[in-house]
Amino acid sequence: MGTDLATSELRLYGDLAVLAGEAHVTTPVGEPRPVKDLIESVGVPHPEVALILVDGHPVGFDHLVVGGERVAVYPPFHGIELAGIPTVLPEPVAPRFVLDVHLGTLARRLRLLGVDCWYRTDTDDAELARVAVDEDRILLTRDRQLLMRRTITHGYCPRSSDPDTQALEVVERYRLGDRLAPFTRCVNCNAELARVPKAEVLEELPPATREAFDDFARCTGCGQVYWPGSHLDAVNGFLERVAALTSRPIARTASGDPGADRGGLR
Ligand SMILES: [Zn+2]
Repeated sequence: MGTDLATSELRLYGDLAVLAGEAHVTTPVGEPRPVKDLIESVGVPHPEVALILVDGHPVGFDHLVVGGERVAVYPPFHGIELAGIPTVLPEPVAPRFVLDVHLGTLARRLRLLGVDCWYRTDTDDAELARVAVDEDRILLTRDRQLLMRRTITHGYCPRSSDPDTQALEVVERYRLGDRLAPFTRCVNCNAELARVPKAEVLEELPPATREAFDDFARCTGCGQVYWPGSHLDAVNGFLERVAALTSRPIARTASGDPGADRGGLR
């Protein structure tokens, strides 16, 4: 028989190599099995994959490999026309996300940019997977076993452990540049913000804030009051990095004085 000795050559393109640890892997096939299983066996969850070529031919996830193949695995391309090539990409969904419990800071960063993020500390893998499917949300998690669940079609494993860099990864991966609406969503609860007259929130403000600001918004979910500068903990160079990535201004900060940042409440 000897099939247990059969191996296939996997070539991982782009940042899929980061997940596999290397760009070129020789891996045992064992019994004939779907190419999806082979790819996941080297650490690449199927939602990360856009195109699979086996010996130069595009195949689907169910294509059986028996050993001896050359398998090329590609992440989603940007700016490359894939029309006519049979990819394994699922139907696109709107850029709304569900984040696992370990990505709380990333959730706040993305919400700061106006991105819709379902996030809870009191949840589990089963609920995260269910929310992803039921609400057509893209699953963000560094738990690759969770991404490999059969029901998950849209998902991404942030490569960095730094929340700011993770947010930039998500912005780039999902081409969010034109959709960002900073300071329109509550970082705590994800609900949208609504502008409110200063008089309405006056009594809830610290004295210094009462003096310094005139533009205010209230979360339509939890009631939290926001003003330009109340996001300072999250601003600290982060919005500038986003602006550089997306090639458009995100926030206006006057002459190095972060307290004068009035970009949020338009
Ligand atoms: Zn809120």
